[in-house]
This record gives sequence, C-alpha cells and structure tokens, in this order.
Amino acid sequence: MLIILAIIIGVLAGLKIVIDQWTSEKSRQQRRTYYRDSYLKSDDWKRKRWVVLNRDNHRCAYCGGRATQVHHKKYAHRNIGREPIEWLVSICDNCHKKQHHT
Ligand SMILES: [Zn+2]
Ligand SMILES: [Zn+2]
Repeated sequence: MLIILAIIIGVLAGLKIVIDQWTSEKSRQQRRTYYRDSYLKSDDWKRKRWVVLNRDNHRCAYCGGRATQVHHKKYAHRNIGREPIEWLVSICDNCHKKQHHT
C-alpha cells in the first residue's frame, strides 16, 4: 500500500515538473512575441536603439564593422522594455544573425 502511494506521489511530482516547464515555455514565447510584435515597433524602442547606436558610435561590438542593429545581451523578465541600456549592444546584421543562431 505504501509503495503504491509512493508511486502515485512520484508520478504526480513528475507531472508537476512537466507542467511547470510547459507553462514557463509558454510565457517565454508570449514575451518573445510581445517583444517582436509590439516593443520592437514602439517609439520607445526606436529611441533606445538610437541611444545605443550613438553610444557605440555605430560600431559592431563583435566585429567592429558598421552596426545597424541593436542586440539584447539579456532580456528583462518583468517590465519588458525597461532593460538598462547596458544590456544592449550595437551589432551589424551579420553578427546579429550569428548571435541568434548559436
Ligand atoms: Zn559585426
Ligand atoms: Zn539580438
């Protein structure tokens, strides 16, 4: 009897881990969608991008070439759009693609 109980508890615990992973993956996806569809089109972001590009003199932080984009080294998990500009770096198109494919 105790063994059966232990098995049930084990199964439930395993299930909980799976569900937790699934929901956190879901909210990560929602955040990403928000970033892509709303935030990256906002005036707020355009202003920030401009500030970062100017701070770095339009130089790519990875190859030293001409940067046209801004890359997030880190994402704010809460308060999307309130990441400090230290988290953002100027980057060229090529290096940016590499950053997102590794
Ligand atoms: Zn580059
Ligand atoms: Zn990026």
